[in-house]
Amino acid sequence: MKLIMLGAPGAGKGTQAKMIAEKYDIPHISTGDLFRYNMSSGTELGKQVKAYIDKGQLVPDDVTVAMLMDRIGQEDCRKGYVLDGFPRTIQQAEALDDALQKEGTAVDMVIDIEVDDQSIVERMSGRRTCPGCGATYHIVHNAPREEGVCDKCGEKLVSRADDAPETVQNRLNVYHEQTQPLISYYNEQGILKEIDGTMKMDAVFGQITAFIDAM
Ligand code: ADP
Ligand code: ADP
Ligand code: ZN
Repeated sequence: MKLIMLGAPGAGKGTQAKMIAEKYDIPHISTGDLFRYNMSSGTELGKQVKAYIDKGQLVPDDVTVAMLMDRIGQEDCRKGYVLDGFPRTIQQAEALDDALQKEGTAVDMVIDIEVDDQSIVERMSGRRTCPGCGATYHIVHNAPREEGVCDKCGEKLVSRADDAPETVQNRLNVYHEQTQPLISYYNEQGILKEIDGTMKMDAVFGQITAFIDAM
């Protein structure tokens, strides 16, 4: 089962992808998490991508595609995966399709989570993430039991630097210009499912599982 989560920054891709990964026992692959892991551990790749991410721009396709291909080539990805934050450009989507075609497989379903820009800005300002285990919270919509502390591992929660309002606006512009065209790209392949992402998290997840179970 090869799934792609599509949607604006803050639409809820990561939140849903984590739940899908758990329910269907497939790895959750977030290119944003992979980049952040490389930045915090100070790798060459981390140094290379930091300036783009800080400005809310996309990391160049060649770098991103190479990292993603390396990840999906690993053993745990044989049974499938849920991609979160990849592809973000037509070029990335084509690179993925070509690579899968060579092994005689293809993407099974693309789940597009639709949220208006105004709700996105509100979501990003309230997003908190755990540097320890990668869990994501929202100060209003998905608050941790104890304020500022991760339920799962007890680490202190942080706001991502690129969730600052100025950067969020850049990321939204980039989304509309470069990522939104993927909606028609996958619609033409007949594998696109659209979901209203302004519903509560559990309702969004209910629709996603209904789509997957009907596949
Ligand atoms: P969000 O889910 O809030 O949009 P991500 O964690 O997916 O954020 O991405 C954070 C940043 O990492 C992006 O703004 C971009 O700079 C970079 N990034 C992540 N995935 C990609 C990708 N597929 N192509 C290019 N840049 C990416
Ligand atoms: P993405 O991975 O698309 O950038 P996240 O899953 O990190 O998005 O969600 C962005 C923020 O919005 C987080 O703070 C998350 O807790 C919150 N969130 C996610 N889904 C919903 C929802 N259905 N309703 C309200 N808030 C949500
Ligand atoms: Zn944690």
